[in-house]
This record gives sequence, C-alpha cells and structure tokens, in this order.
Amino acid sequence: MRDQLGKLGDPMKPALGEIEQARMDLIEGIAAASIVSGKLEHFLVAEPPFLARDGGFIVAGSHPPLDEVRSLRDESRRVIATLEAKYKHDSGVAMLRIKHNGVLGYFIEVTPQHGDKLQEGENRTLFRHRQTIGSAVRFTTDELATLATRISQAADQALAIERELFEQMLAAVMDASLSLARIADALARVDVTTGLGELAVAARHVRPLVDDSLNFKIHRGRHPVVEAALAADHANRFVPNDCDLSPDTKRIWLVTGPNMAGKSTFLRQNALIAVMAQMGAFVPAENARIGIVDKLFSRVGAADDLARGRSTFMVEMVETAAILNQATPRSLVILDEIGRGTATFDGLAIAWAAVEHMHEKNKSRALFATHYHEMTALAERLNSLACVTMSVKEWKDTIVFLHEVVPGAADRSYGIHVAKLAGLPHAVIGRAEEVLRALEDGREGHKPLGRIDDLPLFAANTPVAAAASEPSAVEEELRKIFPDTLTPKQALDLLYALKEKLPKT
Ligand code: ADP
Repeated sequence: MRDQLGKLGDPMKPALGEIEQARMDLIEGIAAASIVSGKLEHFLVAEPPFLARDGGFIVAGSHPPLDEVRSLRDESRRVIATLEAKYKHDSGVAMLRIKHNGVLGYFIEVTPQHGDKLQEGENRTLFRHRQTIGSAVRFTTDELATLATRISQAADQALAIERELFEQMLAAVMDASLSLARIADALARVDVTTGLGELAVAARHVRPLVDDSLNFKIHRGRHPVVEAALAADHANRFVPNDCDLSPDTKRIWLVTGPNMAGKSTFLRQNALIAVMAQMGAFVPAENARIGIVDKLFSRVGAADDLARGRSTFMVEMVETAAILNQATPRSLVILDEIGRGTATFDGLAIAWAAVEHMHEKNKSRALFATHYHEMTALAERLNSLACVTMSVKEWKDTIVFLHEVVPGAADRSYGIHVAKLAGLPHAVIGRAEEVLRALEDGREGHKPLGRIDDLPLFAANTPVAAAASEPSAVEEELRKIFPDTLTPKQALDLLYALKEKLPKT
C-alpha cells in the first residue's frame, strides 16, 4: 500500500494490482466454495424460518426419504379430515370436531349438550370419554389414536431427517470456511476500493503522494464533511486552503482569527487528509504530499469527564500532556486552543510554554489554533513557527468571514461581533463594547476596573435601565390578562390589539 501510494500517477486510475488480486481471490474462493453453495441451494427453501428447531427449511423434492415421511404425515392429516366427516354423520352431531393440542394430542370435541349423545347406544362402543371442561366434552376412538400415533411418528421422523441434513450443511460450511473468509475479504477490498474511487470522482479528490520525507504540503485542501454539508445546504462554497508544514518552510503554524472564521475546520481538514492519505484513500485537495505520519495527535473541542472527577480544564491538560510527552518529529499535531479553561494569564502562559516545547523538543509538524494574539510574538524568536490568520472583512457594522488562511496574525478577536451575530441582546452588546474600551484603556496605563465601575450601567439612558424602570403599554396589558379565561376569538383579538400598541418603528 505504501509503495503504491508513493507512486504519483493518474488519480483516476484504479490501483490495478490490488483489484486484480481481489478478483483472483474472488474467483478462486468462489470455485472452492461452490460445493457448499450448491448444497445450500439444493436443500434450503427460498426463505428459511428463523429457527431450525421446528423444521420446514428443506425444500420439497430435494431428499426422497424426507419426502416419503412428509407425505405419510400429510396424508394422515387428510385421513383425519375424512374421519371427522364420518363421525359427524355416524353420531348425528353436526358440531363434532377433531382438534389437536399439546397435552392431549388429537381428540374429538363436542359441546356439553352433545356430550351425553356420544355416550348413548351405539356411540358408546365407538367413543371413549377423555376429558370434560366447562365448554366442551372430549373423546377419542381407537382409529383416531392409531392415526395420531402415525402422524406424530411421521412428523418426528421428518424433523429428525431435516436436522440431520442441517448438520451436514453446517459441516460443509465449516469445511469451506477459509474460502468463504477469502471471498468476504476480497469483497470488502473491492467495496472499499470502488467506494473510495467513486467518492474521489464525485467529490474531486486526488491521489496524494505519500513518502518517507517529513513534508506536509497540501495545495487547496478541503474538509470533506463541511464541504458536503455546505453543498447540501446550497450555502456558500467551501474555500480551499493551502497548508505547508514541510521542514524547508515553517513546521508549526499558529492560527489566529475570530470564532467562526474556520480555524477548527482548517485544523481538522489537514488531519483528515493525513488519515485519508495513509489509509490509501484519495484526498480532498488539488495536490498533496505527505511524509508518513507516525502518530496523529489532536486536542479539539471542550470535553469533561466529571464522573471520573476531571474538569474540562483537567481533561485538556491531560490530553496536552500526552501530546507533549509522546509526539515525535514524524508526528502531526493539531491543537485547537489550549489554556482556554483557566484565567487569561496562566492559560496564555501554558499555551506559550507548550508551543515552545513543541518547537524545541517534539519538533512535530503542528497546527495550533489560539485566541491569544499575544502568542504571535513567539514567531520572532522561534524560526520554524509561522503565524497565519483567517481573513475577515469588516463591512458596515459587522464582519464577513472569508475563510481564507493568510499569513499574519489577527489584530483583534471580534468576539463582540460574533456575539452580536449570535443574537445577544442589544443592551448586553452595548455594555460589552463599553467594558472592552475601558479594559483596552487599562492596558495603556489607566485603571480599568475603576473606569468600569464608573460606566453608566444603570443610568436611565441605557436600554437595560429603561426597560427595567417603566413597563411598556404592551407589558401592562399582558399583565392584566388571564389566558385560561379567554376564548380563542378573544385571544386573537387581543393579539391584534397588542400589536397595535407596539411603538411604531
Ligand atoms: P472557528 O474554529 O474559527 O470558530 P469553525 O472552523 O468552527 O470556526 O468554522 C465555523 C463555520 O464556518 C463552519 O461550520 C463552516 O460552516 C464555515 N467554514 C469554516 N471553514 C470554511 C471554509 N474553508 N469555507 C467555507 N466555509 C467554512
């Protein structure tokens, strides 16, 4: 597999060696298993029952001894039907029935008012009483008992023969098990290979070059799942991005950018491309060269393990520790924010030290997403570290995510813009902007906290305060009503009236 991947060829040409091998395995496997498949086809009914226990799975006409006992059994059942008609006639009881249950076997049943009739005169010599229950009286005859024995013997014999044939089929399947496993394996290989080939054509994936270098050069890579989801929603097109962590460039990229700009997507798409390339799949990119990755480490998303006493931050640290202790120069590492779950300064300090360690000791190829813009200063000291950012455009009062990875660092986090897009109340957004300005002033030497206290949070002119001090006409109206007492018509009228009272915009 590794050799085949190493050859850079036409991406649409199937790996013939592998398909050819699977074809041979299929042909040879099927030939070897043909005896067992012939046997199963000969003996088994088209839709066998779930349980072998009760028989009924051997096709009629496939095994003469079985056909013989089955016809004896079925013939006897027909004789019982004739016997029932004869007994009705002879006894003069039209309601007489021959029935069967698990306890008594076959018996003759009449209603209680006819019970006596079967024990009078000539009937008395023929019918022997067996049981009286509330709703019926039951009898048997010598003829019926003999017939019942014949039927049950024939049924037992039929079942025994079916079981015997079943055991023979099992043994034949076991004998052919190696060939069957070979067929299954070849089919699985054909399935995966053609599946990946089909996907490559439909989703424009290419054949990557996988070699022994330490390169990681992806040209116009894409996230296969996000791309498909966007296409399914008829949303914006997926924006492809390059990623080059090769030794001759910068092997660690520090990715900054606002939330929602596409940092996680970028990290994950590159990890996925590495996995897909190494499993022998085509990859969602225009071109990819990947030096074999020995281990892929990822720390993404916030998770906790509270049941085992580990907070989100603890889990984050345990995972980061595992990466820093194990990653090698051949590894690929994606770290989606570390140090987030603690106070700004120690979070930043941990993230800072982790990047230094990765750069100096692990020397892995790594993508590191962070919202700590301060860390971009590291690029001046660490020569294999590059800063990239997700580009955004400010437009009117909002921001547009371009999802493009470009060199440089985000100059601000746009958190408040994203909060606004998410629908936080205007009052909260306005107040957050004020607090941010005060904090930023604080960095320049003023006293931030004092300034924040001074800000007019509850002043009458802020929307929050205004809303808290005087209820609107609509609120007053709403307070007066009792919904349970309204008819649907009244409720609808009220709705129109309330709408009228809203301030005109
Ligand atoms: P972040 O990690 O920066 O918060 P995400 O990677 O979670 O951002 O991306 C947020 C959303 O942006 C995704 O769910 C996707 O819809 C969209 N997105 C991300 N990357 C791209 C891209 N390259 N092209 C188009 N849309 C993208």
